[in-house]
Amino acid sequence: MFGIGLLKGLGVTLKHTLETFTDDRQQVPDRYRNSIELGHGRRIINQPIDQEGLLTIQYPEEKRQLPERFRYIPMLIWDSEKNEDRCTACGICAKVCPPQCIWIVRDSDANGKPVTRPSEFYIDAAVCMSCSFCVEFCPFDAIKMNHDYELAVFDRYPQLVYDMEELTVPLEYYAALWPTQYATEQEQRRKDEEEKKAQEEAKARAAEAKAAKAVAVAAEPAAERKTSSAEELKRKAQERAAAKTAVVAGKVDESAAVVSAAVVSAAAATAPAVAPVAAGDADGDAKKTRMEELKRIAQERARQRKAEAGE
Ligand code: SF4
Ligand code: SF4
Repeated sequence: MFGIGLLKGLGVTLKHTLETFTDDRQQVPDRYRNSIELGHGRRIINQPIDQEGLLTIQYPEEKRQLPERFRYIPMLIWDSEKNEDRCTACGICAKVCPPQCIWIVRDSDANGKPVTRPSEFYIDAAVCMSCSFCVEFCPFDAIKMNHDYELAVFDRYPQLVYDMEELTVPLEYYAALWPTQYATEQEQRRKDEEEKKAQEEAKARAAEAKAAKAVAVAAEPAAERKTSSAEELKRKAQERAAAKTAVVAGKVDESAAVVSAAVVSAAAATAPAVAPVAAGDADGDAKKTRMEELKRIAQERARQRKAEAGE
């Protein structure tokens, strides 16, 4: 019959509308229970991506929660537990930022001495490329990626240059956007603090033991300390004397060995010459005579030169 198909299609549409409406009403309490307040009546609805039924969201007042690892531009964390900025103005994020869109000014105290907190912190959202390098390199978990993607403005400057006030969010906001990562970081922080505490306790125990030892030494009778010191000095003097003797003995042995070797070698060198001395007395006399002859000739020549010079 003409129009049956049309009626079937309208029936299917009506069925889905009613189901959606029913699901939507069933989920209403849950959708607001864990929602995240953004201020000015805006909120992020905690609706898993795969959940059906919540098709009606009052955008832009309501937004769906995005996957945890979604990132847009960075945000600075205000530590609500310690009531201070986590940022220490170390400047690492500004150094690693590829397009160099972070500016930081370090704060100073009344004497002009720099302190570990920023007085100004700017990010140019028009340049930021959402790479998350700043987050990866921050050693204090002070900067994280925000899920806020609605940044449309009429003028790029200065509206897209976010200052510290615009960038700062409370820790709870970060915990709600990044629950898994937040839990992991908190666990790590807890472990680090425990370790630090254990180290401090060990240090305190060592200091106590040292102090107790010093007290015990101070309480020891002065006469005993004197005796023990005198004995100690005597023992050390004996050790030094023994060491000295050993060194001298070593040197003497060494010299004796050297002298013996010299004597032996001299004897070896002279031995063949000694025997012919007796036999060669005649050669010695001839040599002596020859020397005297040469001396006489030299004297004679000197006299002649003197006489010629006098003429
Ligand atoms: S956000 Fe992190 S890396 Fe950047 S200045 Fe602050 S503490 Fe340093
Ligand atoms: S996300 Fe990347 S580009 Fe943006 S501020 Fe951080 S480091 Fe720079």
